[in-house]
Amino acid sequence: MKALREDFEKYMFPCYSPLDMVLVKGRGSRVFDDLDNSYLDFTAGIAVNCLGHNHKKVTKIIAKQAKRLVHASNIFVNDKTLTLARKLCLRTGYERVFFANSGAEANEGALKLARRAACDDFGPQKHEIISFLQSFHGRTLFSVTVGGQEKYSSGFGPKIAGITHVPYNDAEAFKEAISDNTCAVMLELIQGEGGIINIDPNFLHTVIEYAKKHQALIIVDEVQTGIGRTGTFFAYEQYDFRPDILTSAKGLGAGLPIGAVLTSQKIAAHFSPGVHGTTFGGNPVACAVADYVVTKVGSDEFLAKVREKGKILATGLENINSRLNCFKQIRGAGLLCGAELTGILENKAGLIQKYCAKEHLFILQAGSNVIRLAPPLVIKKKELALGLELLETALKKALEDEKSK
Ligand SMILES: *Cc1c(COP(=O)(O)O)cnc(C)c1O
Repeated sequence: MKALREDFEKYMFPCYSPLDMVLVKGRGSRVFDDLDNSYLDFTAGIAVNCLGHNHKKVTKIIAKQAKRLVHASNIFVNDKTLTLARKLCLRTGYERVFFANSGAEANEGALKLARRAACDDFGPQKHEIISFLQSFHGRTLFSVTVGGQEKYSSGFGPKIAGITHVPYNDAEAFKEAISDNTCAVMLELIQGEGGIINIDPNFLHTVIEYAKKHQALIIVDEVQTGIGRTGTFFAYEQYDFRPDILTSAKGLGAGLPIGAVLTSQKIAAHFSPGVHGTTFGGNPVACAVADYVVTKVGSDEFLAKVREKGKILATGLENINSRLNCFKQIRGAGLLCGAELTGILENKAGLIQKYCAKEHLFILQAGSNVIRLAPPLVIKKKELALGLELLETALKKALEDEKSK
């Protein structure tokens, strides 16, 4: 059966508005549609395909594991889940890991864990969660309610109670919100979907200080910023602290669905047998790939290259801005870059994305006013340069068209 683009509207839930092309394959930092058009991919499947598309070693691992064991469930342990667990703990210094299948599911587990731990140790009154406006933590009812974007969480009936949203980077508001009834604070170190907003280190230190004072756990959501994306294996390493609970997903499986919750032995102990679980979590194929990802992306040499390429990308954006004057601010870290639009392009991130696709460059938005770039971590320097050129052409055309309106 031939794939038809109109079948999206005809058969699928209308919860996305995909671009017009139908993708069929990828290689490195390029993807191809069914008409054999080639596009430079600065989206990496939303910061997922860290090793690019059709990575030789990754496809080999998938094929090999497919011949051995594809799924067994958590009533057993399997070799691939065990070796990944050890490797992740040794690489990060965490003591225990729980495997899930997505970012939302990892965050759901982290939130339930924080509440359970507080309930066990202090009593049910200590259940309040503080999170931040504009944050994004996934689409399950708990994670979406903790996320700080009304538009995603309203209209689904009664919300999960006990969640307070505070402006991001506002230390005074945070100090006012936290109390002895706070069980956890959940945050991103760079708000991704919320517009690539970097955390203010002073604000983070206030959060750490006050969470400690009130015996609240800090959950850091590194679903997007983790696995080398910001130039260190996890972004928290850049801030000289260790979150009580850390969540990962997106890049961890290099394209296969896997999420993880990392924490201490003491906190993990609150999830005793039967308290939490998942059928697919720790899937051996995903774990076999993630094992390779942790070794490859976790190496100092690989991470140094990400930092170097991140500088090239940020400098490239600054240079574009010196010519076109269309960005208010350029933010992010490593290969996670956001450019906030200004002037006649204000709030036109979706439009810029379409102009870029016409130039055969795929980019992301982070809200309506920020264009987000998250190329594969293995992107070549000359591909970065080409992508920046295509982006500039797209921006120029958009500016001309908007001016002549
Ligand atoms: C993408 C993302 C999620 C949700 O991950 P899914 O795999 O889509 O459930 C959660 N938190 C952050 C910070 C994300 O970027």
